[in-house]
Amino acid sequence: MMASSSSYNSPCAACKFLRRKCLSGCIFAPYFPPQDPQKFINVHKIFGASNVGKLLNEVLPHQREDAVNSLAYEAEARVRDPVYGSVGVISFLQRQVDRLQKDLDSANADLIRYRRNTTPSSRLSSIQLPPYVYHNNVNNRPWNCHYPSNNSRGGGGDGGGSGGI
Ligand SMILES: [Zn+2]
Repeated sequence: MMASSSSYNSPCAACKFLRRKCLSGCIFAPYFPPQDPQKFINVHKIFGASNVGKLLNEVLPHQREDAVNSLAYEAEARVRDPVYGSVGVISFLQRQVDRLQKDLDSANADLIRYRRNTTPSSRLSSIQLPPYVYHNNVNNRPWNCHYPSNNSRGGGGDGGGSGGI
């Protein structure tokens, strides 16, 4: 009972930090719950509480949560990195995307090269999958079985590269 009544009456993080009474209809209350005081502290430090209040009043109610989330993200990034802020995060991720794109391009180039050098699949599978290697796994790998029990299996369609057997 005590917990529920105290959380019901407790001011939002903004009003608590600013040491003022949190009235019903407080513009900050829906977006700065008392459980997360750091969110308001960051936003207040970087943008200023009155600017944030003005901005919230200028945007439509259904846009306010997104506005607060982006302010909080930018403020946290600026607190962590006073020089680059969120731009530092964006350029770090951009470099990562560039590097991964290069890795992907080179992997695709390797794939194309391997495909060109590949021999026909039936010959390849007889070279790469000698039956004795899989002798102990016959029950798990029906497509490698020495003695096919019937023709309905059709060589095991789910065997990937072993379709030639
Ligand atoms: Zn409030």
